[in-house]
Amino acid sequence: MAFPIVRHRRLRQSAAMRSMVRETVLTANDFIYPIYVKYGTNIKEEISSMPGVYRFSLDLLEQEIREITSLGIPSIMLFGLPDHKDAEGTSAYDPNGIVQEATRLIKKWAPELVVMADTCLCQFTDHGHCGMVHQDEVTGTAVVDNDPSLSLLVRTAVSQAEAGADVIAPSNMMDGFVAAIREGLDEAGFSHVPILSYSVKYASAFYGPFRDAAKSTPQFGDRKTYQMDPANAREALREADSDVTEGADMLMVKPALSYLDIVRQLRENFDLPIVAYNVSGEYAMVKAAAANGWIDERAIVLEKLISMKRAGADLIITYHAKDASRWLRGE
Ligand SMILES: [Zn+2]
Repeated sequence: MAFPIVRHRRLRQSAAMRSMVRETVLTANDFIYPIYVKYGTNIKEEISSMPGVYRFSLDLLEQEIREITSLGIPSIMLFGLPDHKDAEGTSAYDPNGIVQEATRLIKKWAPELVVMADTCLCQFTDHGHCGMVHQDEVTGTAVVDNDPSLSLLVRTAVSQAEAGADVIAPSNMMDGFVAAIREGLDEAGFSHVPILSYSVKYASAFYGPFRDAAKSTPQFGDRKTYQMDPANAREALREADSDVTEGADMLMVKPALSYLDIVRQLRENFDLPIVAYNVSGEYAMVKAAAANGWIDERAIVLEKLISMKRAGADLIITYHAKDASRWLRGE
């Protein structure tokens, strides 16, 4: 059948009717809010390239956590800035490291909040890479040693679980990282702790503001030998397939906005929950344009978040989570 029998506008006539036939719904329950913690006291410093996002010292963190839970956001992703960096990222798996300390406090303040620990080494290594590394003498590129990095990641994951992390989220893109962490968690008595794998993480320019926030810029070379080439999609399915086989409980695509085709392909090929990471650069672009009065921030943010769900994401890690939760309540 075709026009004039078919008229698509019939179901768009009123707000109520549009609402009834809406296919995708966005709620605060979809959000995971990233949080940066650091040592010190009385610190709430705004990240210059990410207006509205702060680094907190632990004494000022409780108020932020209360705000997040009061908005109905069910989960946070923790990133820590250590006071000590070295070649092996030892403060990543220190039982009293910044992420571990923050996790223990948050679980005390808000036991129901799902605390996800980003499990990587790049914020804790002096070279800023995500694993054990040496510099190739001829080319100057960073050579990240896959298998030795795994044991450090496992130690980090176990220490985070011991501190009370509800979900371990390994992000370093080493081969075999899910299997190694699964085995390590199980041996340590944490067989009940799920793994959210950064399955498909691209070597993206959209991470710029995060590296500023977490002070994790590589000191030499880049991450292209472990993160994925933005040109590749079939490879994303191979990455995700490995993680599923190795025991991942949820799969992430990062970044989100330029990779919604990948979100859709993972949705169609796997039945695990899919998580889209709406990264720092995506946030910064919206904030910059909004600050100039060039766009309607509220409308843009809600449109881009619902596009991620429409593409197939079950959950969205986003710096917009607090604002979007308020807007979805009609505030
Ligand atoms: Zn990393």
